Amino acid sequence: MAAKGDMVYAWTNDAEIAKKAELGGAVTGLWKHALESKMVDAVFAIQKGKDLYDAQPVLITKAADLKNTAGSLHCGTLLLPKLIKKYFDGAKTMKIGVTVKGCDVMAFYELAKRKQINLDNIVMIGVNCGGSVSPIPARRMIKAKFDVDPDKVHKEEIDKGQFIIEYEGGHKGISIDELEDAGYGRRSNCRRCKYKIPRHADLACGNWGVIGDKAGKATFVEVCSEKGANLLNGAVKAGVIATEAPNPKGLEMRGKVEGAMFKLGDKWRRKDFTALGANLWETINKETSRCIKCYSCIENCPVCFTAADELIKGSLMVKPGELPPNSMFHMRRFAHISDSCINCGQCEELCPMDIPLALFSHAIRVEGDATFEPKLGKAAYTN
Ligand code: FAD
Ligand code: SF4
Ligand code: SF4
Ligand code: SF4
Repeated sequence: MAAKGDMVYAWTNDAEIAKKAELGGAVTGLWKHALESKMVDAVFAIQKGKDLYDAQPVLITKAADLKNTAGSLHCGTLLLPKLIKKYFDGAKTMKIGVTVKGCDVMAFYELAKRKQINLDNIVMIGVNCGGSVSPIPARRMIKAKFDVDPDKVHKEEIDKGQFIIEYEGGHKGISIDELEDAGYGRRSNCRRCKYKIPRHADLACGNWGVIGDKAGKATFVEVCSEKGANLLNGAVKAGVIATEAPNPKGLEMRGKVEGAMFKLGDKWRRKDFTALGANLWETINKETSRCIKCYSCIENCPVCFTAADELIKGSLMVKPGELPPNSMFHMRRFAHISDSCINCGQCEELCPMDIPLALFSHAIRVEGDATFEPKLGKAAYTN
């Protein structure tokens, strides 16, 4: 029996799920058991829409439909918790299982702090996350760097530091470093992200640490809560999931990869924040002068609530009907989220004017956090 803190290699015994899954189908197999045992009423996951650049959120209530959600979509940049608040009443009356990346986990906690989500009704299976790629830049990248028609690509994956595509006529991989040096690759917020193994979910799943004959066929599962242990034990007992002890060398490797990802996040923070430097407010003023006041950054931010109401209705400081809005529109938003921004990138991703909003909010948050680390001082900001 697994308990909180345990780690196992896991895979599903369901052949149909295993065929579509990314790495053995433990995640989808666990959801199958969660639905069948009525641990949850529904599973909120991501599935492929028109093509692999079109990741769609879907609420599944029948276990037979889960197979469509198996597999990882690296161009899936959605944040699920705010959708649960908006469309499913914050899980107040329904038990929902959700596959989450690190930013989703943080968004759940921010929403719960603001009483917008009932975490008692949420089960989270986390997936390790090295980063995601915005769909439109991904298409551009595949054309420019891979010299392949993006519509001919039927599978993408990120493995051993490479972005790999399979397309009509072959497959190609290019190192993420090379792609990012050329201005492509992961979203800018993902490069700075240091929440790689989502240990605040109930289970944290990924491929880091799976070596030997199970490499590519099983998922490394870390049990992070009692709820997670119950789900895993129940699924094993029901025969949906099989597990074995992880290879000790794999454990060591997992730690090393996580450490390397932290260093990479630090490198990008140093680069991005240093470039903003002392001119942060000047840069914010210049960039936000393009704003068309569409409110998308407010609508999609998991920590932005009261500011939205005030700014939509207008206030003494932000006159209704004024375009671009005066700088107080943005200053109030940044101030209001300054100690809570989770660097999820939604504001930036969905801004029609391509204003680097997440960069600004993240810089403000990290600099604020640094004041609570007096021993590190400025280093906490740039490291
Ligand atoms: P499956 O049974 O195939 O289930 C996959 C689950 O992920 C499904 O529930 C599906 O709906 C959900 N999903 C698919 N795309 C997304 C998305 N964009 N956002 C949220 N949920 C999604 N593991 C690592 O060890 N290192 C990494 O660097 C790493 N990077 C990842 C980056 C992304 C964007 C994603 C989505 C996953 C990443 N993973 C990473 C996790 C890994 O790819 C597998 O998801 C994990 O090992 C589980 O495999 P599985 O076969 O059990 O999952
Ligand atoms: Fe993954 Fe972090 Fe990017 Fe979220 S912000 S998609 S957890 S790398
Ligand atoms: Fe302005 Fe962009 Fe926010 Fe829309 S999303 S209100 S354009 S900053
Ligand atoms: Fe996410 Fe942007 Fe809100 Fe920060 S400000 S939490 S990056 S949407």
